[in-house]
This record gives sequence, C-alpha cells and structure tokens, in this order.
Amino acid sequence: MSQRLPRYSRLLLDMHIPDWDAAFLSEYDPRKVVEAYLASGADSVMVYCQSHVGLCYWPTVTGKPHAAMDGRDWLGESLAALREAGKEVYGYYSVIFNNAAYLTHAEWRIVPRPTMAGGAFHGKRYGHVCPNNPEYREFVQAQIDELFARYAFDGFFFDMTFWPGICECRACQQRFSAETGNRIPHIVDWNDATWCAFQRAREQWMVEFACFLTALVKRVSDIPVYHNFAVSLFNWTRGVSFDLARHNDFLGGDFYGDRDEQFLMGRLMLNLSRQRPIEYMTSRCVHITEHVNTKSSAQLQAQAFAALALSAAFRLIDAIEPAGTVSDDVYSMMRAIFERIRPYQPYLGGQPVEDVVVYISDQSKMSPAENGKHAHDPQLRFFPAPHLTAARAAVTRLREQRLAVGVITRRQLDGLARYKVIVLPEVTRMSSDEVDAFTRYVHGGGSLYVSGIGGTYTPDGGSADFLLCECMGLSRVGALAGDTVYLRPVDEELRELLRPQSFIAVNESVQEIAIRSPDVETLAFVSLPYAYPHEGAVDDRQWASIHSSPPSVHTQIPGITLHRYGRGNVIYAAVPLERSPHHSGRRSFQWLIDRLLEGRVSFRARTFDHVWLTVFHQPEQKRFIVHLLNYPSDLPAVPVRSVRIEFGHGLDCRFVSVRELPGNREIDFSSDASGRHTAIVDELNDYKMLSLAYD
Ligand SMILES: [Zn+2]
Repeated sequence: MSQRLPRYSRLLLDMHIPDWDAAFLSEYDPRKVVEAYLASGADSVMVYCQSHVGLCYWPTVTGKPHAAMDGRDWLGESLAALREAGKEVYGYYSVIFNNAAYLTHAEWRIVPRPTMAGGAFHGKRYGHVCPNNPEYREFVQAQIDELFARYAFDGFFFDMTFWPGICECRACQQRFSAETGNRIPHIVDWNDATWCAFQRAREQWMVEFACFLTALVKRVSDIPVYHNFAVSLFNWTRGVSFDLARHNDFLGGDFYGDRDEQFLMGRLMLNLSRQRPIEYMTSRCVHITEHVNTKSSAQLQAQAFAALALSAAFRLIDAIEPAGTVSDDVYSMMRAIFERIRPYQPYLGGQPVEDVVVYISDQSKMSPAENGKHAHDPQLRFFPAPHLTAARAAVTRLREQRLAVGVITRRQLDGLARYKVIVLPEVTRMSSDEVDAFTRYVHGGGSLYVSGIGGTYTPDGGSADFLLCECMGLSRVGALAGDTVYLRPVDEELRELLRPQSFIAVNESVQEIAIRSPDVETLAFVSLPYAYPHEGAVDDRQWASIHSSPPSVHTQIPGITLHRYGRGNVIYAAVPLERSPHHSGRRSFQWLIDRLLEGRVSFRARTFDHVWLTVFHQPEQKRFIVHLLNYPSDLPAVPVRSVRIEFGHGLDCRFVSVRELPGNREIDFSSDASGRHTAIVDELNDYKMLSLAYD
C-alpha cells in the first residue's frame, strides 16, 4: 500500500438502466461523463462494471453487455479517462440483485420471491438470485475473472451482499440439511434452537459468500475490496452479521437516513472496520428512490461535514438519466460541497476517543414479538428489533450530551476495560462470552447500563432469568401487564432534575424484577394507575381520570437499580429510558450515564444539544483533533456562540495549545487544579476543527 493520503472526496454515478428501449443510454458518452466527474472536484470515482439490471458496461463474453454500447467499451474508456486525470478508480459490481441472471436462469432464483414490501422501492422490478446456487457463483467468478483480466482498478465494491428475503431454494435446503440435519423451519421462534440455527446459517452463508467474492478479487489484484454495509443495522431478515466485516478492507455503505443514522453508522463502522477511513455514501437526491428531488445544499454540506467529524470518506451518489446524460449543475453543486471539506482532510484520521460506548449486538437484531409469525410474513421485513431501536436512541442521547461517544461490537469484547461506561440497550440475545466479558468488566471496576429485556435470550433460545443476573444483582419475574406504568424516583438528585414531575411516565412494556443482592440500591420504584391492570370503561369504576391514567398505586417493585458488584457498578432500567420519546425519560437516561461516569470525562462540549462533538487521537503528532458540528434538524444552522470545551481528565498529557485548523489560529485555554482544561470557541457557524496539542 502506498503512503499517500486517502482520497476522501468520492463520487458514484448510478447506472441501473435497462436496454429494451433504443433511447436508453443512447446519448451516453464516457468521456463527457468523466468531464462532469472532473468538474465536481472529486478525487475518487466509482464506475459501473454492471448494475442490478445485470447488464455489463464492458464487452463481456461471460455475461450480457448493455445493448447501447454497440461494440464499444464504456468501462475501458471511463477508466482510461479517469486515469489520465489522475483519479482513483473503484469498480462497482452488483451481486444477488441481477435481473438478467434472474430472467435467464429461473433455477438460480431466490425462492419464494422476496416481496421487498414496506420500503419506497418498486419491489417487483428486482430479480434476485441465490448466493448459495453453485452455478450463479461460477457465473460471478467468470465475470470477475474476465473483468480483472482486462482492467486494473484501485479498489472494488460489491453491492447488495445481503439477503433480500428468506430463501428456500434447492441449494439452501440442501445446504441447511447437510449442515444441521434439519429442514428449514417456517415459523419464527427465537425460543427454538432449529430456528436460531437457521438464522445463524443464513448469516454464515452470507459471510462465506462475501469471503468468496473478496477472494475472487484478491487472488488477482491486491486492492481494497468492500461490500455494501448499509443494511448491517436492518433487522435479522437481511442476514448481515458483523463477521462480514472481516471480508472488507474497510467498511462503507449508502445511507438515506437522518443525522442520527449517519452518526450511529459512522461510530459503528469506525470500530468494526479493519482499516480506516470508513466511507459514508449518500445520494444527492433525498432518497435512492427519488430521481429529481435534490437535497438542499445545506443538507448535503452538513452530511459532508458530518463525514469529516467521523473521519470518514464522503461519496456522493448521482443517478444517470435514462438517455445517458448527467446535469452539469449537479456537478457544480457537488464541487461547492467538496471544496468546503477539502481544507480539513489532511488532518483526518487517528484513534477515536470514546468515554461512553454503546454495545451493538448483531445477534439481537430480532424481537420476541416475532415469535409465532410465519417466516415469509411480509411484516417481518421492517419489524422493529427492540435492541436496534434502543441502541439508535442511546447513541443519539449520548451524542446530545456532547460526550466522547462510541459504538462497539463483539470485536471489542477483549478490551472493554478501556471504556468508562458501557451501555447495553436491550441487548436481547447474549452469548456466554459476552456475559463473561461484561461480568468481568464490571467486577474489575467498569460501569454498565443495562435496560429492558437485555440478556433474556441466548443465541439458541430463551433464558429463564437475566443472563447478567449475577452482576445486575437482580432476577427477572416477568413483564408487567399493560403499557402505562410510572417510575417513581427516590434519588434526590434525579427528583430535582425531573421537577415539576414526580414520576417518569412510561408507555411501553416494563420488566418486573426482584432484588437478589444486598448491594442493590433502588433509584426508582414502580407506580401503577388506579385499578391496574384494568383499563377502565364507561360501565365500570376501574379508572380515576377520564383522559389519562394518573399514578395511583405506589409499589415497592424496583424500576431502576444500582448494583455495586466487585469494583464496578451496574445500573438497570426496567424499561429502556434511552428510547423514551419524552424529555423526562431521555433526561433520566442521560443522568444515569452521568452518574456512572462520576465526572471521568476526557472531552465534553457545553452548548446546544444539536452540536456534535467528536475527538480523534493522533499520538504521532501529539495532538487530539476535535470536531464541532452545528447540525440542527432544521437547516441551515444558526451560528452558535461560546461553545465551551472541557478536556483533559484522565488523559495524562500536558496540553500546550489549542488551535483552529486549518490556519492554526490559537484559542486560549485555562486549567484548574484537577487537570481539567477549558477552551471557549467564540462562534461555531457550521463546522470547526481544532487541534489540541500536548508535549
Ligand atoms: Zn437459496
């Protein structure tokens, strides 16, 4: 690998265009499109070798060339023009989503046909073939061999390395039977070992397919290879386990969600990727299903700055017109966005600084509420997994606290001691190595937050008690009936914080727990409505107020507990407060995290909740790079004044300067006796990068 700086400003032109109409791509000219790429100022471009349609953009003999090429070699011409301009070039190749293969090889198809229901996609347009089909694999191998015999790339991207549906084709049936001796089950049941084994098999098959694809490239060309990681936090149906990351040189994916998603996925990929930078791809249109509606410049610019704040490469996606043209205006807009981020790129990189981390489990992308549903129930495609909704909310809440926040996975299980607080947001399924690692972490002095149904399932079925019962100091009784329950804080500080409220109102399922250790302190008890669990009706007397159900019965059932275990602490919340839609629940979660942190904060920004703080350590340069991003939900951002940055606690280094980058304008900082420093950034317009140097 060369030592040159990574290329952070990247581009991709989607070309999923069929060829049944002679007008399609009839005006496409690779040289002209490359001119647009160059006008954008991008320094890395991904070019289509083939698309979801299954048509190839080189004169292939192994597959089907796009008819509009008419003997030309568009891929070769694009590559030559981009190379001439000194650009880095990645190749794009779609797997599993291949209409041409679907139409010509009925026996390769995923069976039954995935409905793709629930999203904005026109699901009926896509043809899916099964990665377990040996002939399809031979076809892909022949295509990749042919490609690399003809062309050289700087990197390669496989799109759609995930399951669009649950496949029961002959190849899948035979493989599952050979591996487990069982038939593919039809009822989702996370208590059933066979169902769990089937899901595990689906995930491992996809990992093995990614391994196969990566190896196809690696055996002929030592270039970075990656697979689209965008659906890695979709639910279990996509079958993407984090093991798949091992077959990516770095992680990246195309994202169409909001700022919370960008922060979450960035933090996840930073710690899961084998190499950095990671890559954040997004379309210039508001969604992949839109061709015209374009994001505002402010929106795209905020996403580009957010990529900087995550030390990520930023790849903008445009989509070609069916005739084969692109809009010069779009590439001018892209140029303006790339120009704003370029001055900061030389300072990117380093180790992410993370005081508080959220643990995300790829085994917990499921829901106990799915038990009993048919495996092909179209509802399952977007069925919410409690762990994922809680994890996403927890990361957002912590980001809003402007702490140094991270996301970890089982890849970090051996090094948990470095984190000050670990959040387990309804981590529903836990394996024994996770239970051991978290228990050891707390015993050795770590601080853990656990919520809801965390640790109530193993990877093979249900568990009678919390798997972390020992370090939580609690036993699980069951779930309280109904979904109107109150938590009644007894801790004075929390009571003060919530004033004028005396309760935290909860509108979802709450776990009933029993204390099993004398070292458990109850921070909040459960209160219930009048005549609980009755809902009340016009002809009964089982209610106290006609519109609402005020707290009435004040039980001694613990709702939030603190267990001192070994040298550490565990807070358990019987309902995931991090997911609360209300200020009181969210604020309570943040307070609990602050309580666990006990002031051990290496970096914190005091300003509005919508300002991002991220920090990377660059020990070779003896500095920390601090990113501040002004990213409200409504753009453009109004400038924020007097952003106070507190830093230094526990870092064991003598800070000598705080400077704005680029330009090195110095900012004063003050220090107190405890080793905590404070710097004030007078004005934050949209984004600011600081260098905190030490000697
Ligand atoms: Zn199959």
